[in-house]
Amino acid sequence: MPKPSISIVAPVFNEVETLQEFYRRVSTTMETTGESWELLLVDDGSTDGSGDLIRNLGEKDHHVNPVIFARNFGHQLAVTAGLDYARGHAVVIMDADLQDPPEVIPDLVAKWKEGYEVVFAIREGREGESWFKLATASLFYRLIYRITDVDIPMDTGDFRLLDRKVVDVLSKMRERHRFLRGMSVWVGFKQTGVKYRRAARFAGETKYPFRKMFKFAWDAVTSFSYLPLQIAMYLGFISAGLSILAIPVVAIMRLTGSQAFLGQATTLIAVLFLGGVQLISLGILGEYIGRLYDEAKGRPLYIVREAPSEEDD
Ligand code: UDP
Ligand code: MG
Repeated sequence: MPKPSISIVAPVFNEVETLQEFYRRVSTTMETTGESWELLLVDDGSTDGSGDLIRNLGEKDHHVNPVIFARNFGHQLAVTAGLDYARGHAVVIMDADLQDPPEVIPDLVAKWKEGYEVVFAIREGREGESWFKLATASLFYRLIYRITDVDIPMDTGDFRLLDRKVVDVLSKMRERHRFLRGMSVWVGFKQTGVKYRRAARFAGETKYPFRKMFKFAWDAVTSFSYLPLQIAMYLGFISAGLSILAIPVVAIMRLTGSQAFLGQATTLIAVLFLGGVQLISLGILGEYIGRLYDEAKGRPLYIVREAPSEEDD
């Protein structure tokens, strides 16, 4: 089969109610563009029969290429697998829950045709999401923007188009704790954005409970900044500085007969406080070392049970 012009990559985790409609809207949109296309549906260890449905779609329509994982590896790794198997000259990453409307793809493609190599979709508004999700997401984007060294555009998710050049570079970056929206900015190239309204989920519940969101945010922070390590150092400087100031003060007070620092409470508080600071610092250090250890093991990022064969072109 010849290489398609556009590959669409969508990670799927228990989206059986949405898939059919997702496929319908993607194919209608792509048929109107007149481009050749393929749709890579990456089943991230679904337990609700999404895998079978993806296989079915693949049998009925040659545009659909199923990638089936051996278990749940997480959203970012599912997208990574999609990028690895995509063959198009441009690759569009989007969620399978129809929160990223397929009708925006032609806008992304138009920018790509103008010569941009990374076209990200900026959420101008979000529908059907709890205030908690909106607030934490907004905080997350602002925090990441402040503390990382790459200027990750605010309010953009993974919905974006990447030129083949960018995909090839990203496929060589095999880091385990992935934050793709950071990585695809870090690589450089000509970047631009297109605005869209983020729709409500078509069906089902979010697959990103708070626990996963927190882990995702922590991966983003640790893979793009040393700030947590630096904070430990700043805390050290602050408490060392304070004690240098406090030593002469306490000494003079004792010599002049003050009773203020008699007793064990002060000692206890100081010891507990420092103990706490040290344990936190150790924990942060541990997080980075654990990530180093994960990388050192060099396990595959994901394991596929079924994937499109590497066809010639
Ligand atoms: N997803 C996945 N693996 C997971 C969690 C989510 O492949 O472990 C997929 C999910 O099927 C969806 C996309 O990632 O297509 C985004 O997830 P979701 O809609 O739950 O996140 P939200 O939009 O609520 O942030
Ligand atoms: Mg969603």
